Amino acid sequence: MTSWKDEQVLIVGGGIGGLTAALALARQGIASQVIEQAAEFKEIGAGIQLGPNVFWMLESLDLIEPICALAVFPNNLIMLDSITGEEVTRIPLGEDFRRKFHHPYALIHRADLHNLLLGACRKSGRVRLDAAQKVVAVEEMQDAIKVKTADGKEYQGAALIGADGLWSTIRQIVVGDGKPKPAGHITYRAVLPATEIPQKYRWRDMGFWAGEKVHFVLYPLRTGELYNLVAVFHSDRYEEGWDSYGDPAELHERFAGTCAPVRALLEKIESWRMWVLCDRAPIKQWSRGRITLLGDAAHPMLQYLAQGACMSIEDAVCLAGKAVEAEGDYAAAFRAYQQARYLRTGRVQIMARIYGEFYHAGGVAKELRNMMLGARTPEDAMAGMEWLYGEQKELTRQAAAVPLR
Ligand SMILES: Cc1cc2nc3c(=O)[nH]c(=O)nc-3n(C[C@H](O)[C@H](O)[C@H](O)COP(=O)(O)OP(=O)(O)OC[C@H]3O[C@@H](n4cnc5c(N)ncnc54)[C@H](O)[C@@H]3O)c2cc1C
Repeated sequence: MTSWKDEQVLIVGGGIGGLTAALALARQGIASQVIEQAAEFKEIGAGIQLGPNVFWMLESLDLIEPICALAVFPNNLIMLDSITGEEVTRIPLGEDFRRKFHHPYALIHRADLHNLLLGACRKSGRVRLDAAQKVVAVEEMQDAIKVKTADGKEYQGAALIGADGLWSTIRQIVVGDGKPKPAGHITYRAVLPATEIPQKYRWRDMGFWAGEKVHFVLYPLRTGELYNLVAVFHSDRYEEGWDSYGDPAELHERFAGTCAPVRALLEKIESWRMWVLCDRAPIKQWSRGRITLLGDAAHPMLQYLAQGACMSIEDAVCLAGKAVEAEGDYAAAFRAYQQARYLRTGRVQIMARIYGEFYHAGGVAKELRNMMLGARTPEDAMAGMEWLYGEQKELTRQAAAVPLR
């Protein structure tokens, strides 16, 4: 006998958000079709930080063990002054942190996380995966959704999830609010073998140097054999959305006043990839009938809280739980899902902007920042993270509803 769960849900976008949505639905027995525009299902070669909040979700998806086998668990979050090189603050991520938030803080290669999700989707037997298909049009029917790709291929499903990222096509159909907003900040990212990193900085920490209109992040990946480097600076030179090899001369110019270790690390890198950072102001309606959005398509944020992918994973588990609660009434499920998510994701969007200002402060603001952060105890710091990393009862209830196979 067929059930509503056999009618596939269409998911546009096979990034971290789209694949997690497919997996979370599969674990509820719901079939899906993921449609990805890139020639293959793949993530960029860079690191990603996973806050303890996302481990509740990974637990429900039965991914804790494989993630733990691939992730690095840093000992501390460390912030240094980019000019003096002095330590401003340090938050230990050991036993007390894990006890407070029930889960660890992790660093993982994006490709490893993406591959795990892809493998779990394939294994589930409930997820179809098509690459090299760019969705260009959507047709809403009485009780189904049809999408068309640039190649003229058509897919039909009971509902549609737009997990198509910052430049979402589906968002323009559901919300229609134009392009995202460039922050005036540029990021360069690179991954280097540990042998390229000076011994002193081969730390097992998530560390970064913060300075006026710049900051620089350094953390280990894959048991410490690789290091992830991220340089961020303010710039008005680039067109929005430019994602290319950039202009390393500008990068070095912007970091010219920073301390010797930062400049030495920047010199090590020959090939950088550049991102022009964009976000949007939060909204509370990102669903219409049988169509909804997830991850960056719904609530793109600046990366200063390292939570964009984490939020997309939380979205996915929440959405799958709501689909089951609504027994296949997707319009009701998507309303309940956005209602459960918009204040949390909106808060992260807003706080990420504020953290960006905070990290890039100069003059008196910087002095105050260093003084305030320097005076904090680890307990103060953890109390300040409770809203983000603490258990979200609604979400863990959704997660608990996902049966472990
Ligand atoms: C510098 C930087 C550092 C970051 N660090 C962190 C971090 O440490 N921790 C964290 O949690 N987050 C971090 N983020 C944020 C995180 O990368 C994103 O929030 C996350 O990748 C969003 O996932 P997504 O699946 O929603 O979108 P995406 O990863 O953008 O995936 C969208 C997918 O949809 C596909 N697509 C787009 N349009 C179409 C179409 N029309 N048809 C078919 N397919 C389509 C794309 O090809 C892509 O594969 C960082 C971001 C940046 C820029």
